[in-house]
Amino acid sequence: MSAAAVPEWLAAEVAALSGAARAGRLPHALLIHEAPGAGGDWLAHFAAQLALCERAAEAPCGSCTACRRVLAWQHPDLTRVAPLEDSRQIRIEQLRDLAAELALTSHAGGYKVGILTPATR
Ligand SMILES: [Zn+2]
Repeated sequence: MSAAAVPEWLAAEVAALSGAARAGRLPHALLIHEAPGAGGDWLAHFAAQLALCERAAEAPCGSCTACRRVLAWQHPDLTRVAPLEDSRQIRIEQLRDLAAELALTSHAGGYKVGILTPATR
């Protein structure tokens, strides 16, 4: 994910997250409140790449295996929680499963990331 790919309207959020990561102070959770289609999913993926990128000095590089796996939803330390097909809501069982997953040691030895979408309702 190169700097050129950053949506202009998310530049402040990207700069704040990048600065926190460089300082070793990524927040343990982010609540991204946005209108549908305004870039919340993009920002969630950016934050996940920031946490999981293999090249910390240039994170998120967008080209390492971890960054590519995040974009493809194939990173073993990234879990997505969304309503199941027959529901409009995320169920408590899904959150319990996420909590159990996040309590395990990460596969890559770093962060584990969970993306819940939508986080309202
Ligand atoms: Zn990377």
